[in-house]
Amino acid sequence: MGRIAILDEATIGQIAAGEVIERPVSVVKELLENSIDAGARRITISVEEGGCRAITVVDDGEGMERDDAVLALQRHATSKIRDARDLAAARTLGFRGEALASIAAISALEIITRARGAVSGVRLAARGGTIADLQEAGAPEGTGITVRHLFFNTPVRRRYLKSPATELGHIADCVAQYAVAHPSIGFRLSHSGETLLATAGQGNLFDAIVAILGADSGRQLIPIDQPGELCSLSGYIARPTLTRGTRSGQWFFVNARPIRSRVIAHAVEQAYHTLVPSGRHPIAVLLLTMDPALVDVNVHPSKSEVRFLSEGEVHRFVSHALREALGRLDLTPRLDAHSGGSLPSAGASPPPDHPDSGHDASEAPAPALPFPEGNACGRTPPQARAQIHDTYILAEGEDGLLIIDQHTAHERALFEQILSGTAGDLMRPLPLAVPFVLNLDTRQASALRDSLDALHAAGFSLHPFGRDAYLVRAVPAALADTDCESLLRDAIEEILSGSAPRSIEARREQIASFLACRGAVKSGDRLTLQEMQAIIRGLYALPSRFTCQHGRPTAILLSREELARRFNR
Ligand code: ADP
Ligand code: MG
Repeated sequence: MGRIAILDEATIGQIAAGEVIERPVSVVKELLENSIDAGARRITISVEEGGCRAITVVDDGEGMERDDAVLALQRHATSKIRDARDLAAARTLGFRGEALASIAAISALEIITRARGAVSGVRLAARGGTIADLQEAGAPEGTGITVRHLFFNTPVRRRYLKSPATELGHIADCVAQYAVAHPSIGFRLSHSGETLLATAGQGNLFDAIVAILGADSGRQLIPIDQPGELCSLSGYIARPTLTRGTRSGQWFFVNARPIRSRVIAHAVEQAYHTLVPSGRHPIAVLLLTMDPALVDVNVHPSKSEVRFLSEGEVHRFVSHALREALGRLDLTPRLDAHSGGSLPSAGASPPPDHPDSGHDASEAPAPALPFPEGNACGRTPPQARAQIHDTYILAEGEDGLLIIDQHTAHERALFEQILSGTAGDLMRPLPLAVPFVLNLDTRQASALRDSLDALHAAGFSLHPFGRDAYLVRAVPAALADTDCESLLRDAIEEILSGSAPRSIEARREQIASFLACRGAVKSGDRLTLQEMQAIIRGLYALPSRFTCQHGRPTAILLSREELARRFNR
């Protein structure tokens, strides 16, 4: 007798279900996708006990005929593709024909459905995948599916469920994401009768986002609309002030399917590099549209990860589109009474330059955006007027009074100049009258060796001088007055303390950042008006002048309007 046996149907069903249905939110996701595929305009989701006791999804989609409703519960039964050739072109969210079968195998499931135009509907009840009852029933057009006692016959899976609150959190996130991906569908989620989330379904992406994130966040979003050859990108990204400690506010979609993507997440991170403090993640809702043949959604059981045919290009495209959108803005934080920490909470409208603002943009009052749009570069730099506390520069700008942090401002400008090799005289190598020898230990010497190019680019001249030692012949002019030996030792310690940068570029950035910080004027340095003006000029030549490279602001603005308002003018 052989040891191998074919498993019985019920066991096969439970194993297959385990792959697709991990927890209540998996059920919600699959039912939502089916409703969307069925052309629904409204979808209501009601859950009890975080979905562990019951999940009901009702839609007004095309519904099912009696025979189809029965077939729908079979594995590999689908109306969406006919053979493998259809796979690559599938535009529907589902196509494997296994979700309903999987859910049915591990729950008590009820379908009430009526096909569009049919005289009556049917009600079908199943338990553990076996149909227990099937009869004609009065029902509105569309489909309602209720799933009770999830995992009743898979006790192990049931034991791994988290608290109802946690499961509900996942469900709310899931519904929110589909609601954003499909703004023309009205979604409503309720828990034990209490509405948690509702979108209007009027087709406006911004409205859908505001319904979920709230009007305060909405006000800090900037539209993205970037057509391209390979793909096009739309959505909203946050001003650098709207960040979270995790990536939970970053939602990515490909062809209206929510996905996780390290490629896109990295592109976002790169676009915001130096604009947000490290460890903070800006909110971003990004929808990619592309030929389905260029993306494989069939690589993950729940299709939540995809594979792009040309990852590199998608990465470049997204990162570039975001950089450009951010570069167009004046991101100077405002000191005005209506901005700052507490933004007004009512009446968010889409930014006026976005197609979403639609026909009624002119009727709506101008949105109270806390930050003016403006060309970041190419405007006249503000005039330095005074220094206070030996730390801040007061400058008169077109828009009002700027308070500039002399250190971060100078640091940012130096950083960019060192990186781009445009620091000119400042970073010119200045030969030392008396070269000195830097004696290091093996670990330090190897760190220095890896960063030699970056140091040379920044104006140092260092030459190997026996084992683990270097002869320092020249230092950057800007640092000529500092104790260059301890500066180099500090730089080496800094290199050793962080995780080793992966690329030459990252290494250059690390060195540039260190030197900029050391080379910049400090808080406490008294400056002349000329020196202040030079700092401002350097800063305003940059597109990325709003924060230092660590993400701290370089300047804040007290606007002309705010001054007038405060003095009752
Ligand atoms: P898939 O979505 O991959 O086709 P499912 O198991 O999720 O597989 O669903 C099986 C079939 O049942 C679908 O192809 C569709 O024809 C039908 N169906 C499921 N849910 C609905 C619904 N809400 N409205 C109309 N038809 C549905
Ligand atoms: Mg499906």
